Amino acid sequence: MNLPAIPIQAVRDYVLQIKDISKQYKTGDFTQQALDHVSLTLRDNEFVAILGPSGSGKTTLLNIIGGLDRYDEGDLVINGTSTKKYKDRDWDSYRNHTVGFVFQSYNLIPHQSILSNVELALTISGVSRADRHKRAEEALKKVGLGKHVNKKPNQLSGGQMQRVAIARALVNDPSIVLADEPTGALDSETSVQIMDLLKEVAQDRLVVMVTHNPELAYEYANRIVELKDGVIRGDSRPVEPEETASEAPAVHRTMGRASMSFATSVALSFNNLKSKKARTILTSFAGSIGIIGIALILSVSAGVNHYITDIQKETLTSYPIEINQQTFDMNKIMDTAQAADDSKEHAQLRDGIYPDDSSVKGASSVTSGITTNNLSPFKKFLDKPDNDVRKHVGDVGIQYSYSPKFSVFTHDGSGTLVNVDGVKISGSSVASDSVASTMAGLNSSSSDIGSIQSMQISKITGKTENNKAPSAFSEIMPGEHADKQPISSVITDNYQMVKGDWPKSSDQVVLVLDKNNEIPLTQVYELGLLPSADYNDMMNRLNNGEKVKTNTSRIDYSKAMEQPLTLLPAADQYVKDADGHYRYVGNDADQVGKLMDSPNAMKLHVMGVVRANSDAKTTPLAPGIGYTRMLTDKLIAHANDSEIVSSQKTDRGHNVLNGMTFAPSDDAAKAANAKTYIASLPVSEQANMAKSLMSQTSLGMGTPAPSQQSAGATEEQTAQAFNHYLATASESVLVSIYNQYVSTGTYDGNLADFGVIGRDAPSSIKIYADSFEAKNAIEDAIKQYNEGAKEKDRIVYTDYAGLMMNSVTTIINVITYVLIAFVAVSLVVSSIMIGIITYISVLERTKEIGILRAMGASKRNVSTVFNAETGIIGLCAGLIGIAVTLMLIIPGNALMHHFMGTDQVNAVLPVSGAVILVVLSVVLTLIGGLIPSSKAAKQDPATALRTE
Ligand code: ADP
Ligand code: MG
Repeated sequence: MNLPAIPIQAVRDYVLQIKDISKQYKTGDFTQQALDHVSLTLRDNEFVAILGPSGSGKTTLLNIIGGLDRYDEGDLVINGTSTKKYKDRDWDSYRNHTVGFVFQSYNLIPHQSILSNVELALTISGVSRADRHKRAEEALKKVGLGKHVNKKPNQLSGGQMQRVAIARALVNDPSIVLADEPTGALDSETSVQIMDLLKEVAQDRLVVMVTHNPELAYEYANRIVELKDGVIRGDSRPVEPEETASEAPAVHRTMGRASMSFATSVALSFNNLKSKKARTILTSFAGSIGIIGIALILSVSAGVNHYITDIQKETLTSYPIEINQQTFDMNKIMDTAQAADDSKEHAQLRDGIYPDDSSVKGASSVTSGITTNNLSPFKKFLDKPDNDVRKHVGDVGIQYSYSPKFSVFTHDGSGTLVNVDGVKISGSSVASDSVASTMAGLNSSSSDIGSIQSMQISKITGKTENNKAPSAFSEIMPGEHADKQPISSVITDNYQMVKGDWPKSSDQVVLVLDKNNEIPLTQVYELGLLPSADYNDMMNRLNNGEKVKTNTSRIDYSKAMEQPLTLLPAADQYVKDADGHYRYVGNDADQVGKLMDSPNAMKLHVMGVVRANSDAKTTPLAPGIGYTRMLTDKLIAHANDSEIVSSQKTDRGHNVLNGMTFAPSDDAAKAANAKTYIASLPVSEQANMAKSLMSQTSLGMGTPAPSQQSAGATEEQTAQAFNHYLATASESVLVSIYNQYVSTGTYDGNLADFGVIGRDAPSSIKIYADSFEAKNAIEDAIKQYNEGAKEKDRIVYTDYAGLMMNSVTTIINVITYVLIAFVAVSLVVSSIMIGIITYISVLERTKEIGILRAMGASKRNVSTVFNAETGIIGLCAGLIGIAVTLMLIIPGNALMHHFMGTDQVNAVLPVSGAVILVVLSVVLTLIGGLIPSSKAAKQDPATALRTE
């Protein structure tokens, strides 16, 4: 054989020793002996050509030399280091730093530029960007492609691509270059160029080239090794034993590792994705479909939830938890009815007649359902800053209301004095006339359930009859902090100013109209806007069964706003008589006329007219006059400062109205009180009482009994006879009269009548929650309070919202669960979808994985690159999903409004939901890609490279 001389400059012994290596491939039952005890020593500086027919094991040998494939038996000694104990990372480092590969099919990464392809080995070993560029450009210049750095592989000819591959193999300045049929795909002319290049490369390193082509081998190589059926059949220049005289036993040494930073992997995958924009967008879009599904369902569910929350808030603003001083325990009544029905055991028997006692029991439960709440300890509990109720109250908060006592008077158009509470005052001291009682009847029908005062049957007592504020007057709900916000936003949000302004001080009020600009006709008369005489006339005719044409003609806003209203606090409606007792004069027109000019009378100004908005969500203001918390406060302070209250406080034992002892226990005092009381009555009432007593036999009145006097006796005569009788009556008779007719009242009752209100004892407490859940939590807190409280301090209230809305809560829960189920299903579907897409995209890139591995990328590097890529795709998918959802929501809402006929439900994608979905998309895609990427990483690089 005629081989060229070996240009050995410096004998560095040898680089590689292949010692008795065997390799088998098993496919099913068939075992292919690819290499059969091959031994070969290669010098560090020669151009070795391996010749052999196809299937003789050439590629296998080359892959084993290059660390791409593992041998089954034997040893590969590199620079005196045995590779028997090599770990993965040692092989990675070996491939990266010591070996350069050139393949028949070039194996360039198609989506990266020539420059990036050449840089790859440097990228993997973590060389800086600038350095990488410089060295890659140099390598490309060396192979004559300095001008093509920015092209993609498919823009080059086969020869050029192979030169790129050679540049890539050389960029790390490896001591071994392995070429597997580098000219196999090239024409002869180009093949010669490549061979020239390889020969040049072989000047200062070991080049092992596999080829079919004996001519080229013989022309260029220094040494020819012939392989057949996995066995070496010939070696033109075997290494002589003398050359290896210094052979030391092979030892294990760890090589420097190839390391690729995380940032590099991300950059690598990002570049990859960038170079395949259309594909990336399509993959992301496919992945985003699941996200769009979830996002849409989430948006609709958020919209529905919003709607439900709004409804809850509205409902609970209209029906707060309301605890009144006196209340019907509706729940108790209902429970009793329920219990009665449940306990009927005989319902099954039906063997005779059974009396149904439910109506009797029901009646008793109605009576026992009337309860008085002791609100002051409860208020104390609520005022504690960290109590459980406060934690759950909504925006409106907790509202305490107090019922100040006052009367309001005005003059109607004809100058008649009118009590705004419906009592037309005549010249005499008649407490009420038919008009008033009819009106009271009308009023009570519209009054709230909480008030039971009208149900109590009043005795003829020493008490006066003035109570409460006029029913046309109601306090406007203040803000949570009344001092800062005199009118709650619940009011200002739901009512509009028709004319004028909201009140700003205690003497300013507003007229409240309903949605149709109406107020009750009775109130029109009560406020003196129409003559009271007309009203009397109208009511009389109604009572007589006549047809009446009611006056419902328009009244100017300004007329109402100019109507003078004068308020008299309860305490000021008493005058001190000569006997030192106070007398109620609120029903005496002359006295009232005088009082109206006194300094204590407050002139009220109607500052504005308001009306509930047409879309008002709640209308807590009753039609009529609304006054502020400021007026309430002023009246409370005024009552405490009044003369009658201070004199009652000075003498706690006696009633300042009649001088009677409060609640005497001994008969003598009772008898004395009876006398004092009867003496204080007007003559006509004395006569009435006398007649009433005569009809009773129980008192055992002796002769001369007043009734036995002539029926035609005058009231004076009757009264006189009665007084005469009383003067000598026995103590037992007087006590009996006392027990039957006289009530001395109580100290507290008197103070209450005079309008004294304790700040700690509101007449009602309203607790506003924003959701049914919060309401339930509040109710639990109240329950807990009740468990801890004394029997008499326990709170009873009726849960109107609960009575009305229980079924709604169930429906809401069902809807919520259905929506959650939808979201969960679409989540599963979209995860599977993303997983499949990622799997396919990884499968598609098997070859690339082989290339990366050949260049020295570790398994970790490969999986990181793929994970980074799937992560980026997940991010894109998430972002596209959110963007598409936001666009779909617009027509979606329009459709929803069209079909549902309401624009209350609006699908909105919550920001937190959007963020979570993007993160979810990234995580899901990563998980979906994890299996294929770890599979990719585990893939044997040799096999990966064989895939087409
Ligand atoms: P050459 O490169 O000389 O054409 P190879 O080294 O590629 O031959 O193959 C040697 C033998 O090993 C062939 O018979 C081939 O079918 C077999 N072989 C190579 N790789 C595998 C593999 N991954 N699985 C099974 N058999 C293989
Ligand atoms: Mg081959």
